[in-house]
Amino acid sequence: MTGITILGSTGSIGLSTLDVMSRHRDLFEPVALTANTNVEELLRQCLEWRPKYAVMADPDSASRLRDGLRREAPGIRIMSGPEGLQEVAGCAETDYVMAAIVGAAGLLPTLAAARAGKRVLLANKEALVMSGRLFMDAVKQNGARLLPIDSEHNAIFQCLPPDFDGSMERAGVTRIMLTASGGPFRTRRLQELRDVTAAEACAHPNWDMGRKISVDSATMMNKGLEVIEACWLFDAGADNVEVVIHPESIVHSLVEYSDGSVLAQLGNPDMRTPIAHAMAWPRRIEAGVKKLSLFDISKLNFEKPDPDRFPCLGLAREALTEGGTATTILNAANEVAVGEFLGSGIRFTEIAEVVKRTLDGVSVQPAGTLEQILNADQRARDHAREQCRRLQP
Ligand code: NAD
Ligand code: MG
Repeated sequence: MTGITILGSTGSIGLSTLDVMSRHRDLFEPVALTANTNVEELLRQCLEWRPKYAVMADPDSASRLRDGLRREAPGIRIMSGPEGLQEVAGCAETDYVMAAIVGAAGLLPTLAAARAGKRVLLANKEALVMSGRLFMDAVKQNGARLLPIDSEHNAIFQCLPPDFDGSMERAGVTRIMLTASGGPFRTRRLQELRDVTAAEACAHPNWDMGRKISVDSATMMNKGLEVIEACWLFDAGADNVEVVIHPESIVHSLVEYSDGSVLAQLGNPDMRTPIAHAMAWPRRIEAGVKKLSLFDISKLNFEKPDPDRFPCLGLAREALTEGGTATTILNAANEVAVGEFLGSGIRFTEIAEVVKRTLDGVSVQPAGTLEQILNADQRARDHAREQCRRLQP
């Protein structure tokens, strides 16, 4: 039996993970389930799965969960706050950690999993974008195994040779092609983008995801974060990672080799495929995903991203080139701006504006220590909030 901690078990990725686990109750058991404030869903999951631990980041929610479980499942240990999350990410009973918290809040527990040498199933790309080198070093130094859940990176992982040792050159890889759906506004008239609503931005054509990543997909900041993620995961240079818009989301990404071969991973857009892949790796297990019918799809399309429509992609590349804490600042500014947009504080097109102003206004420093990273995150959030205030009518 493999013990799994799911950080963010009530979210879109968390629910898909539990769905895959429910098909293999003989292989996997949940050690810890965690959430921020969704007491009802975590309560339901605890009653179904009886984990050893349940953690709620929010202390009030934790005490409500405690009340709910007192009678029916008194054996479950309930914890709260960031310390609780870090404890269950690194605890001895846990073999694998699904890192599926959204945003910077996931950094410390995901890092705790890496430091404890766990198999880390990484969905929380923001953690890696924030901490890059520090995170990859923690993985290496503690013998952790990092497997990507992001569908594009999972696809790339599958297209790399099984003995890939971290060097693209030795593996003969010349280019990584990251596919992107283009989101809900790929063909929307440019002048209309400033008036689009949060509901429209969250209505992704192919994927059913949390609200933050849905907005990131609409601005294509998601792809910018993924370019950065790919560079860290596969030790690739930014110039070797190309973004290709592919509206059908069937080809999840591609790897080009020096002999001209291009390998791709295809499948219906369903996160249970990369989740099951990373959970069972190097084996394969059933994931409940509808089989791909090429006859039904018939045509696949590919196009270049338009920099005027998707300025966030360029901003992410600039931050990546700058290095140090620039990507930490980018991520923090984006989280603040997306939160403001979802709360109707700023317009859709102002997300990129806030990120740009924050990158311009906050000084970049080396990202050698956790302290430097958390400090950059905080400074960027303060700056971005101020920019949002100024933009408000
Ligand atoms: P979601 O909003 O549906 O779920 C987020 C989860 O994190 C919830 O369980 C929530 O309780 C928890 N959480 C939120 N804030 C927290 C905090 N402050 N402290 C502790 N827990 C907190 O998000 P999602 O769509 O499942 O995405 C999760 C991560 O996976 C993101 O980093 C996203 O970029 C990445 N990802 C998601 C998908 C997808 O298809 N949904 C695909 C690729 C990558
Ligand atoms: Mg992705």
